[in-house]
Amino acid sequence: MLSLAAVLLLASPSAGQSPTPLPFQLKLLAPGVYAAIDGPEHKSGSNAGFVIGDGGVLVVDAMFTPDAARALVGEIRRLTDKPIRYVVNTHYHADHTGGDQVLRDAGATIIAHRNVRGWVRNNNINLFGDRITPELKARIEALPLPDLVTDKDLVVWLGSRKVIIRTVLGHTGGDLIVTVPDSNVVFTGDMLWRKVAPNLIDGSVGEWEATVADFGRNPEAAKSRYVPGHGDVADLKDVTEFRAYLRDVRRLVGDARSAGLAVEAMAPAVTAKLRALYPDWAISDRAAAAEVRYMDQELAGTKQRPIPQAD
Ligand SMILES: [Zn+2]
Repeated sequence: MLSLAAVLLLASPSAGQSPTPLPFQLKLLAPGVYAAIDGPEHKSGSNAGFVIGDGGVLVVDAMFTPDAARALVGEIRRLTDKPIRYVVNTHYHADHTGGDQVLRDAGATIIAHRNVRGWVRNNNINLFGDRITPELKARIEALPLPDLVTDKDLVVWLGSRKVIIRTVLGHTGGDLIVTVPDSNVVFTGDMLWRKVAPNLIDGSVGEWEATVADFGRNPEAAKSRYVPGHGDVADLKDVTEFRAYLRDVRRLVGDARSAGLAVEAMAPAVTAKLRALYPDWAISDRAAAAEVRYMDQELAGTKQRPIPQAD
């Protein structure tokens, strides 16, 4: 005779089928603190995460696609029935803000650096360059504008749980990081990339390296865990390695400039050296060529960065 459980299993139309896989891997970092890490197929476009407090949930970043954001909301709903109160955009780039409307529809107030309102619809078009499609352009132009903006640090209380939002310099000119002091977890957005070549399009490597150095100087750094914008959950060793990577990009491009190399010749030369120094990093030709071009512009003093707009 079949057990009741076996009968129910046979009766279920989905018996034996695995559920649709998530576009990210959910990782528990501390009680109520989760990282959602984008997979090798880049279905989410970037990492995200969330913090569950007794007074509600704060989400960090909204991923690139509405589908990924819906999956994120689904995971939160599976874990808690507390209200989703906030989503913090670590910066304006669409791979972190693309799912904002889904989070807003789920009840979240969108928190961002004050510059994000002026950039999220306009500057994301530049970010995609020749990869923009009419569909993506329309989606970007309809992205919601943040509700609550700051150019200072901000403390959010989720009931009795404290979350600190800090403004930092380096990646875009409108960057926030989120720390959960009771668990030594830091959501860095794209201020940190783990074993992936970073996108320097809007960055100042000089400012960026100083901010990453500050991460390392935090007294809690050795026991902290960092959720980067791209790549797996990181520790202090990864922070130190990322800082060294930024320094090496600047040094190698500087050397190539001193040797009189034209920017087209710099990219293959610098990329080969970076790959030798960081053999376990994902450094695509496209990413490396862009990185070299932007670093060269920064060193030449011709780098264009997003310009803050008046409210
Ligand atoms: Zn990103």
